[in-house]
Amino acid sequence: LGRLRSRLSRSQSSLGRGLLTLLGGGDLTEDQWEEIEDTLLAADVGVGPTTELVTNLRARLAAEGVKDPARAREVLREELIGLVGPSLDRQLHTTGDEALPGVVLVVGVNGTGKTTTVGRLARVLVAEERSVLLGAADTFRAAAADQLETWGSRVGVPVVRSHEGADPASVGFETVKQGITDAVDVVLIDTAGRLHTKSGLMDELGKVKRVVEKQAPVTEVLLVIDATTGQNGLTQARVFGEVVDVTGIVLTKLDGTAKGGIVIAVQRELGVPVKYVGLGEGPDDLAPFDAEEFVDALLD
Ligand code: GDP
Repeated sequence: LGRLRSRLSRSQSSLGRGLLTLLGGGDLTEDQWEEIEDTLLAADVGVGPTTELVTNLRARLAAEGVKDPARAREVLREELIGLVGPSLDRQLHTTGDEALPGVVLVVGVNGTGKTTTVGRLARVLVAEERSVLLGAADTFRAAAADQLETWGSRVGVPVVRSHEGADPASVGFETVKQGITDAVDVVLIDTAGRLHTKSGLMDELGKVKRVVEKQAPVTEVLLVIDATTGQNGLTQARVFGEVVDVTGIVLTKLDGTAKGGIVIAVQRELGVPVKYVGLGEGPDDLAPFDAEEFVDALLD
């Protein structure tokens, strides 16, 4: 966890430092409040959450007559944590019905880090001594299944795959079927994320989910968003949110941006929590997301 904190703060602290410098003792002019707003917007926090934060912060600092920078920092910290959502359910849901495996669908646009996320999640679950099976339902590129197999052998879990161009839903079906036969705890399914037509995506993802659910309920639909894509990431969130019931977000490449506010914006957009963040390209660089830890890293 300390490592997560240091990884986060290295890329994120410019936002926190900027806010703290501007906030000073909390006794600000209109222009200074505008600068705070601009700083939040520049960090991809989004208009709604920025307005909410500034309104609440101003009201609290004024009500308490705060002049002390340490107290102003504490109020900022509390308001930021409130905005990130300290009590959202960030557990990965993998408990299947009765004897059935938990089924996790991992969705998102290609290149966001889906396959990497599936591999790293497998690693996390294996470390918790859960048995895992991977499904390569991204059949659009043969390389995607190869990449998943590399992860499978690295982590020591089997992978169900088919030929390039196979029906993704049939791979999903076969994976869950094998998962039930082998009595594994969790089935993780990597999907294709071609966004050229929304209806194509809707058909494909909807079908994967429907077909999989003929055998076992999907316990989690994780949407992978690349934190470096800003507004584009939010658009993707909206589109995926319309085609499938997303239950959690994985925000990758948070190491590659100082715009940590995207965490807040993307949760707001979808109304579901960020459950994991990607902090690098390595096999261990996926961390469970925690609101307090994130804000403390910002303000470090
Ligand atoms: P997919 O097409 O969505 O399955 O994406 P991949 O899993 O193939 O990942 C695309 C690229 O992003 C790869 O080079 C990954 O190593 C890289 N990547 C994934 N997650 C992270 C992250 O958290 N941080 C960084 N810096 N790179 C990442």
